[in-house]
Amino acid sequence: MMQRIFRKIRRFLSKAPVSSGQATGHPSHNRISRNDHKVSRQSIDKTALDVLYGLKRAGYDAYLVGGGVRDLLLGLEPKDFDVVTNASPEEVKSIFRHKCQLIGRRFRLAHVRFGRQIVEVATFRGGDDHGKDRQVDSAGRVLRDNVYGTLEEDVWRRDFTVNALYYDIKDFSIVDHVGGLADIKAGQLRLIGDPKTRYREDPVRMIRAIRFAAKLGFAIEPKTEKPLFELGPLLEDVSHARMFEEVLKLFHSGVGVEVFEKLRHYDLFKHLFPLTDAMLGTEVAHFPRQLVIESLKSTDKRIQEDKPVNPAFLFAAFLWEPMMQRRQIHLDSDMSPQDAMFAAANDVLEQQIRRTSIPKRFTAQIRDIWSLQFRLSKRFGARAAQLRAHPRFRAAYDFIGIRLAAGELELAELFNWWTEYQEKDAIEQIAFANEIKKPARAPKRRRTGRNMYRRKRDSDTSE
Ligand code: ATP
Ligand code: MG
Repeated sequence: MMQRIFRKIRRFLSKAPVSSGQATGHPSHNRISRNDHKVSRQSIDKTALDVLYGLKRAGYDAYLVGGGVRDLLLGLEPKDFDVVTNASPEEVKSIFRHKCQLIGRRFRLAHVRFGRQIVEVATFRGGDDHGKDRQVDSAGRVLRDNVYGTLEEDVWRRDFTVNALYYDIKDFSIVDHVGGLADIKAGQLRLIGDPKTRYREDPVRMIRAIRFAAKLGFAIEPKTEKPLFELGPLLEDVSHARMFEEVLKLFHSGVGVEVFEKLRHYDLFKHLFPLTDAMLGTEVAHFPRQLVIESLKSTDKRIQEDKPVNPAFLFAAFLWEPMMQRRQIHLDSDMSPQDAMFAAANDVLEQQIRRTSIPKRFTAQIRDIWSLQFRLSKRFGARAAQLRAHPRFRAAYDFIGIRLAAGELELAELFNWWTEYQEKDAIEQIAFANEIKKPARAPKRRRTGRNMYRRKRDSDTSE
């Protein structure tokens, strides 16, 4: 009841005609008028504009916020557009009806769908930090935050100053309360408020800092940067499902190599991929590290070319060395090669999902990519066509490509053969695969020790 009244008062105040720049009660020097900034309506996604105008027509305040405004100011193409409003999620729902779905528990949000496009509409967050709709745990993490407020309050809930610029659909001005525009000009990332507290509230902000620094080429301002060296362990408390999503955003950003280097610099990578990190420390002749880099290079290239990327590919690459190491232990205890690989795969994937969940469809694909590494060499006769028809063939072939690029030069023959095979027509392919001689079975040998592991791995693909 009280909430309804507050909402009414808020709506009345926000509609009240006040002098320019004071529509929501903030001083005009925080408002940059339409002629003094570079965001133009032409560059805003049509769907986002429809949502903004829909809210405005219904009498609410509506702003574009976050990455959309930031990227347009930087002359980049925004990935998505986020809208924020003083309408409650339920009110947003009543405006857009069947086009709108309410989601989220931690933060309640509205998703407005036009065709295949979705625009995320959030309600200004605010209120005091002890309200019943805001829950913080003993470590200072925000668990639930559904107190609605004003734009001025909403600003303080955002992460970086450059993400807290609001483009007002009413007069096309930009509201900047935290010096976000100056930071954009200076090319720096600065957390709003006390950095340690903000990272504790939500440790994901640490990896967001890395992602934006890499993507925008921004420097991380010293006070925002310092805690990155200390607070890494907090990442282990974040929900594994959210971590999976965040890790994908990190490595599918188009600047994955740089993200990886930065994560290593701040010693954050080990909290995301502990098994991979352990291998990086013990690598031989730069081999493991190169595979991670090669997989990221290939992913970055695909993203730049607008080609689809598969999360299973990256996880398969990151976890390949840890899997191979365990596989060798199983081989040494006389397990069959196939059983050894699958046992190693299970072990490695089980440990990884303690940090980032991996949806089942992807773990299945990771196992396929791995097992095809051994199977692609057995390509004589009809087998070639069967392998080519495997749904994971292309990923497995690319995977051989990155292993080769990472220094496994003995894979060159196999990789080139499959490259040539794919270029032929169906009839030629049969003849080509028939030229392969069925290899004689190698006598079974007992293998022990690290040197044998390397020798064995080198010869795996010609089994
Ligand atoms: P991009 O979409 O390019 O990845 P973005 O800045 O738009 O970058 P989103 O995840 O889309 O990032 O979030 C939109 C906005 O919501 C951010 O710009 C920021 O203002 C706010 N935000 C998102 N995540 C957080 C967070 N963990 N803590 C505080 N504010 C956040
Ligand atoms: Mg965004």
